[in-house]
Amino acid sequence: MALSPLIDPFGRSIRYLRISVTPYCNFRCLYCQPDGPHLPEGPREEISPREWEKLVTLFARMGVEKVRLSGGEPTLRKDLVEIVSRLSKIEGIGEVSLSTHAMHLAPLAKELARAGLSRVNVSLDTLDADRFREISGRGDLRRVIEGVDAALAAGLDPIKLNAVPMKGINDHEIGDFLDFSAKRGLRMRFIELMPVGVARELYETRRMSGDEILERMRESGKWAELERHGKDGPARMFQRESDGLRVGVIHPLGKNFCDNCNRVRLTHRGEMRGCLFGAQNVPLRHLLEAEDWERVLEDGVRQALLSKPEKHRLEEGDDGELNSLAQIGG
Ligand code: SAM
Repeated sequence: MALSPLIDPFGRSIRYLRISVTPYCNFRCLYCQPDGPHLPEGPREEISPREWEKLVTLFARMGVEKVRLSGGEPTLRKDLVEIVSRLSKIEGIGEVSLSTHAMHLAPLAKELARAGLSRVNVSLDTLDADRFREISGRGDLRRVIEGVDAALAAGLDPIKLNAVPMKGINDHEIGDFLDFSAKRGLRMRFIELMPVGVARELYETRRMSGDEILERMRESGKWAELERHGKDGPARMFQRESDGLRVGVIHPLGKNFCDNCNRVRLTHRGEMRGCLFGAQNVPLRHLLEAEDWERVLEDGVRQALLSKPEKHRLEEGDDGELNSLAQIGG
């Protein structure tokens, strides 16, 4: 039975849940967790598939339609297929997607598709195998590309390919990414580096602004900016005149970035967070144990939503005390 919709204090309707199913990642990306996971204090255990199902069922009754599984690296969870299977069957959930580095995706792609996964976002910052190892600390580019191809073969598309261009590291590869994504029919998204945790220092010297990214894109031809649609999320969309290729550029520090934010996040241990960079983590998991858990959880979620800020304050140096995006499911 539907409950009244989730509307935040600024009138934004919450339709999208980003779930970090694990804080662990086996990559050591230079701008994220170069020294390994920084785990928040407190209990370590991750939420079970059945608990995710209960949580998401209640969110769906309050109007959430889309769920994205992230981390850490979600493919490290042995029960990922079960999580997808349970969440994709929930009434009202029209899409379950996955953010992954894709190195372990090839053997999983078909099973995930069968379990009800709709699509995949792949994070990849370079198409050069040696540079990939340097940026990710441990990644094997060949296996990532196999993962992308397996996801395409399993029908897990459209695949979004997310890259963070950085000066003097991979900025000269923007044209290669455009070719790679055009050839495979991937939706390319370039994301500005954000000054979070260890990335704060890199941000000073390596960050490429959205305009600098666009300048590089223009080396391959003329681009027209498209009108934004809800499904583009926070990306500004551009279309190349010569072949119609569409590419998104995400400026998290840009003006109005938060205006249409329709999401809240859940951490691996079932805390709700209204904003990646600036809200408390409000524990919800223990509420599942109550006899009238649905009523108690609904109250807990509505209460937690009151702390969702109007906008993040990254440009003022407030990164919400995160060490890395992986801590909360970037
Ligand atoms: N392991 C999964 C993956 O690779 O997609 C999910 C977690 S990872 C933290 C999610 C995304 O956050 C990746 O695309 C990564 O590039 C991005 N990310 C992490 N730190 C970032 C930063 N400081 N600025 C911009 N993007 C960042």
